Amino acid sequence: MSLFSTGDGSNSTDREVAEGVYRFGTRRINWYVLEAEAGLTIVDTGLPAHWPQLGDWLDENGYELDDVAAVVLTHADADHVGFARILADRGVPVYSHPDELPLLRRHPQSPPGWLLRNLWRPQFFVYVLEMLRDGIRSVEPVPDPETFADGDILPVPGEPRVILAPGHTPGSCALFVENRDVLLCGDVLATRNIFSGQEGDPQLLGAADEDHDEARTSLARLEGLGSVTLLPGHGNPWRGDVDEALDLAR
Ligand SMILES: [Zn+2]
Repeated sequence: MSLFSTGDGSNSTDREVAEGVYRFGTRRINWYVLEAEAGLTIVDTGLPAHWPQLGDWLDENGYELDDVAAVVLTHADADHVGFARILADRGVPVYSHPDELPLLRRHPQSPPGWLLRNLWRPQFFVYVLEMLRDGIRSVEPVPDPETFADGDILPVPGEPRVILAPGHTPGSCALFVENRDVLLCGDVLATRNIFSGQEGDPQLLGAADEDHDEARTSLARLEGLGSVTLLPGHGNPWRGDVDEALDLAR
């Protein structure tokens, strides 16, 4: 098995992780396609090298690039902004919380201190190599995204509701697709420890959080959403009651 074995399914059945929600990326980093009558919404855009995965999937499923109606970013770390600019240049609206704009406009940026400090961890080092291979240094900024506010129901296919949960980054959000019991939580929660590479229960990102205390406090904003499929930016889907996920993370 290659060091960089992606572990991503090659057909739609593998990719479908909830009703009309498809998982892309690699085993270390996820982005999603939300399918609805009105078209497709891309939630996060991984790394630049993931771009062909979208085209292949559209082809296999009878879609055109024009069926992509919107991109919604849970936050603007470079490993989640990947190919957003390609779609933005084609006129696809890219949505972001305004508190992410400084980050979104700054790509490519220097690696943050926490990243350098954790390079000695073997599994994290492999993830960093993967990010370099997949173009993290060439992520292009998205200068003029559409912005949204906490509580907004976005006018995009699937109509996710924004739940602002700052801490990992200042404008980190989770997206709740209520009629499918799907919570796309970005890096508000992960089910994979990016430092140890271990898959597991919902957890905070830890040392990768810009403000870890705030990230912990923000978990309260997800309380009471009920039973969901939790789809994080890093790690496998987790199914259960959100309050249980929050207890595990705390
Ligand atoms: Zn991330």
